[in-house]
Amino acid sequence: MTAIDQIMAEKGLVLPDVVTGYIGAESLPIDPRANQLALHFPGTGEQLTLLQEDDAETVARAVACARDSFQTGAWSQASTAARQGVFRRGAKLIREHAEELALLECLCAGLPASHLASRQVPRAADNLDFFADYIAVMAGETFEQMSGYQTTVSRQPAGVAALFAPWNAPLALASMQIASSLAFGNTCVLKPSEHTPLSILRMVSLLEEAGLPPGTINVINGTGMKTGAALASSAGIDRIAFTGGGTTARQVMAAAANHLTPVHFELGGKSANIVFDDANFEQAIDGSLVNIFSNSGQICIAGSRILVQRGISERFIAAFVARTRSLKVGDPLDPNVEVGPMAFKSHWEKVLDHIARARNDGAILLCGGEAPTDLGSGYFVTPTVFQVHNNQLPLCQEEIFGPVVSIQIFDEDEEAISLANDSRFGLVGYCWTNTLRRAQLFRQGIEAGTLWINTPLARDLRAPFGGFKESGIGRDGPRQAAEFFTEEKATITAYGNAPIRKLGSLETP
Ligand code: NAD
Repeated sequence: MTAIDQIMAEKGLVLPDVVTGYIGAESLPIDPRANQLALHFPGTGEQLTLLQEDDAETVARAVACARDSFQTGAWSQASTAARQGVFRRGAKLIREHAEELALLECLCAGLPASHLASRQVPRAADNLDFFADYIAVMAGETFEQMSGYQTTVSRQPAGVAALFAPWNAPLALASMQIASSLAFGNTCVLKPSEHTPLSILRMVSLLEEAGLPPGTINVINGTGMKTGAALASSAGIDRIAFTGGGTTARQVMAAAANHLTPVHFELGGKSANIVFDDANFEQAIDGSLVNIFSNSGQICIAGSRILVQRGISERFIAAFVARTRSLKVGDPLDPNVEVGPMAFKSHWEKVLDHIARARNDGAILLCGGEAPTDLGSGYFVTPTVFQVHNNQLPLCQEEIFGPVVSIQIFDEDEEAISLANDSRFGLVGYCWTNTLRRAQLFRQGIEAGTLWINTPLARDLRAPFGGFKESGIGRDGPRQAAEFFTEEKATITAYGNAPIRKLGSLETP
């Protein structure tokens, strides 16, 4: 029995030899002709199980099932109260199964299980509860300014949504896509990342246990090139919501163009974390560490470029590096671990390549920068801090998606804003200051969709979330989701006998 089998057995869980997708509330049968992809635990590199890759034909069946389900009206025409009931029961089941879901996610993604159970799994439940609340207070519009007529504006679900989830926060992000599409009556086909399907499949089964009609959510698995591409190019989908990288997003958009399918993109970032010299020093250190090392640096909102003002730079850099050195890196199943491994081998190699390149480019390595030798065969990277003098280095321009941060020193306040904006991304920004004027300068000047002042990563689900520039198209958020996942319909009704031109007659109305 492997260590992982033992951990699973302690929780009463067994992984099937082959994991398959889910169409119409039934797991797909194992197809001996199908391609099988290996899933690995990033903490050791050990193989967990196999994932059956779905081909274009299976993707077409999933889309057809979502369409049939949409047309039956079991979900698309269900009352708001019925939808709310399913969401709330689903949220409760997710909370009750938090440890199991966290374990499944940890095994695939390598994110620290304790963080998953306490933060990211509850967030999946919160997403459902939030949308359950929102649909109860949504309202249409009525216009009566035109005498004799009433115009009402209502919304109806768009139809079948294709949802693409990434591997870096599978439950938190897939649950947002599910909640924001299903809340308005759509059905969906969901493609998890081929690296992290297990927690999502379990969450979907919990939602069905909560009363979701069969075929409302269908899950297909496989690589982006095969399964993902088949879904993105399907003529049977009405919306695409995609969270992932910019290169993939371009391919998805090109495929969507064939059918003019509307897209919603949540993409990458290279966000600045500005520390002004009047900041609360301890808070700025704590927050800056959280901003880059959460999720082992594999997070789109990472504050991966620290800009620190000269007056406090020496003290800040010394304190930041000392704390980085003492981060606890290791087995993500260990509840004390703060930084886990990279999620899969090729990503680990990519992060190490970025580090090697930064060193070659002349970035000054202050700590980390290697694959630790004392942590076995997992995909670990020592938390890494570079100091740089040139924002044009690939280290400062490309999303590394690992525990790697650059620090640059600035003098004038405005210089920090222009360095922060010197990026093709524009997802988020952070700043630390006790001066209102500086906070306002930051708020007005930064080209990014979400800004945090004197706090790391606090998220209010009422507010929109999404990126400027190459960080995305559209926004997450309740109103924004309603706009994206529904079709708006204006209906004009005449109260009495409306005046109508009498074509073909000599009478005038
Ligand atoms: P990715 O682009 O490689 O994959 C995302 C999904 O698309 C996966 O399910 C993948 O299998 C699929 N896919 C890949 N190629 C495809 C193709 N040709 N056609 C259709 N589907 C395809 O992204 P990733 O590596 O899983 O995630 C990391 C990226 O996601 C980072 O850039 C990160 O910043 C971004 N991200 C953004 C947000 C946000 O909210 N803005 C949140 C999390 C992650």
